[in-house]
Amino acid sequence: MIRITQIKMEPGHAEAALRKKAAALLRLPPSAIAELTIRKQSIDARKKPALLLVYEVFVKMKPPYDRQEADLVKRLRKKEITIADIRPYRFPEPGTQPLSGPPLIIGTGPAGLFCGLILARAGYRPVLIERGAAVEERLKDVEAFWSSGTLKADSNVQFGEGGAGAFSDGKLNTLVKDVSGRNRKVLELLAEAGAPEEILWQNKPHIGTDLLRRAVKNIREEILRLGGQVLFHCKASDLIVQDGRVCGIVLEDGKTIEAGAVVLAVGHSARDTFEMLHRHQISMHSKAFAVGLRIEHPQDMVTLAQYGSTELPGLPAADYKLTHTCGNGRGVYTFCMCPGGYVVNASSEAGRLATNGMSYHARDGKNANSAVIVTVTPEDFGGTGPLSGMEFQRRLEEAAYRAGNGKIPVQLFGDFCLDRISSGLGRIIPAIKGTWQFGDLRSILPPEAAVSLEEGIRAFGKKIKGFDRPDAVLSGIESRTSSPVRIDRDDRLESSLKGLYPCGEGAGYAGGITSAAMDGMKVAEEIISRYARPGFDE
Ligand code: FAD
Repeated sequence: MIRITQIKMEPGHAEAALRKKAAALLRLPPSAIAELTIRKQSIDARKKPALLLVYEVFVKMKPPYDRQEADLVKRLRKKEITIADIRPYRFPEPGTQPLSGPPLIIGTGPAGLFCGLILARAGYRPVLIERGAAVEERLKDVEAFWSSGTLKADSNVQFGEGGAGAFSDGKLNTLVKDVSGRNRKVLELLAEAGAPEEILWQNKPHIGTDLLRRAVKNIREEILRLGGQVLFHCKASDLIVQDGRVCGIVLEDGKTIEAGAVVLAVGHSARDTFEMLHRHQISMHSKAFAVGLRIEHPQDMVTLAQYGSTELPGLPAADYKLTHTCGNGRGVYTFCMCPGGYVVNASSEAGRLATNGMSYHARDGKNANSAVIVTVTPEDFGGTGPLSGMEFQRRLEEAAYRAGNGKIPVQLFGDFCLDRISSGLGRIIPAIKGTWQFGDLRSILPPEAAVSLEEGIRAFGKKIKGFDRPDAVLSGIESRTSSPVRIDRDDRLESSLKGLYPCGEGAGYAGGITSAAMDGMKVAEEIISRYARPGFDE
């Protein structure tokens, strides 16, 4: 197989044109190519509006050319043309230690689901428990919350099957390097579960909440088909510990489940679970995260700034990623940008309010939104101890709840700068899932964070024209950007309590859907390589 990089094509090109260009680069007729697979597609917007699509492709040659690939590559002597080095993901070999019960996974977010899927495929018949509802029922709960404001404590935007990412933009890119092949495998497993094939080659793959929810249900069904169990409305409220090792869990209703190994994939919002772990003196500490506000602009404004035109066919709604270092030394950056998306009420505790962003696969909403956030460290938390960051989050969310009388507080950027509550909208109509009202966002932020966000947004206005327009719509608070704790684990991925495997974003080992799924796979691999397959090798 030959790998060709840096193939540049005009947007909207015909499929055959790519094959023709690849063949021309190989100095062969298109008929010599048996198969062309796109491995990556990115956008080169340096000469906007004359944008180009840049491809990396794998080419399989037809006989007799297939026997001469190495010679061909050598003869062409171009750094863009090489022999493809494919390192497929490999399942580990099962270990020999007996498992005293099934592997039990707490949480069915990306970390828990992918851990469960890998264990199920390897024949370990995992038991997954989830405090919230199955994704179909959860959708109804979330929509009811957005329209009525009635929050279900265990079935909301943070909790329920699919985890925090189920009501998200579904960005699937990660900064984690893919030396293990896990990143590619996550995308392949999602595609097998019904995600669109393009996620396998887009530089910034995106699935959207609608298609992600479907994939989540299909993954659950495969785990069940392979002999696993997925139990909903089951909250782990305590651990059963014997001889310094976890051997099961207690559910909220008092029932118990025995387990040979317990994977803790509870996400960053499981505050009651963090408190329970702290009571068991499991080694963990507070960590830095970021807080801020969401900002909305017209998507056309962003597309014009990024592409130089809003009339370019065949291109996705434009995104952005912006950073600024403030005079006070704090870094401000945009996070979780949702092109053509919606701001959502992502609260999970009564009397506390948090926002986030979501989009559908089509990303065809009128507004672009992203969080503009500033890093906060344990020194900002106003307390010590592993849960001080979590308590800091809670205080901010209580202030946000009060600022909007239980609805999402909204303020225009111009009024935020003048420190006054907005009295009307400008030309941007908020695209918000959940009820909202004008409120004082500045007052809910730590003063230094408010000053930093104002400076950051003004600086971003120099990079994207209109970013700092006075009628840009702010809402908040954006407090669940990553976990406020890290649960320590050793080089075999166990916590200070043996048999307990902290995993995914909540444990502090991932930041996003794909990296959480990859961490879930990593923990599954560790369990497989350590323990014998139950019922087969015992
Ligand atoms: P989670 O997804 O949080 O899953 C944890 C699960 O554990 C939950 O289902 C919860 O109900 C369950 N649980 C918790 N406690 C218990 C218990 N005691 N017993 C039983 N079950 C329990 N990331 C991206 O990469 N791209 C995006 O576009 C994106 N957009 C987002 C939009 C929104 C609205 C939100 C909220 C998050 C978004 N994220 C996005 C972040 C992403 O969703 C998380 O990084 C990811 O879901 C973390 O996966 P996880 O499996 O570690 O935890």
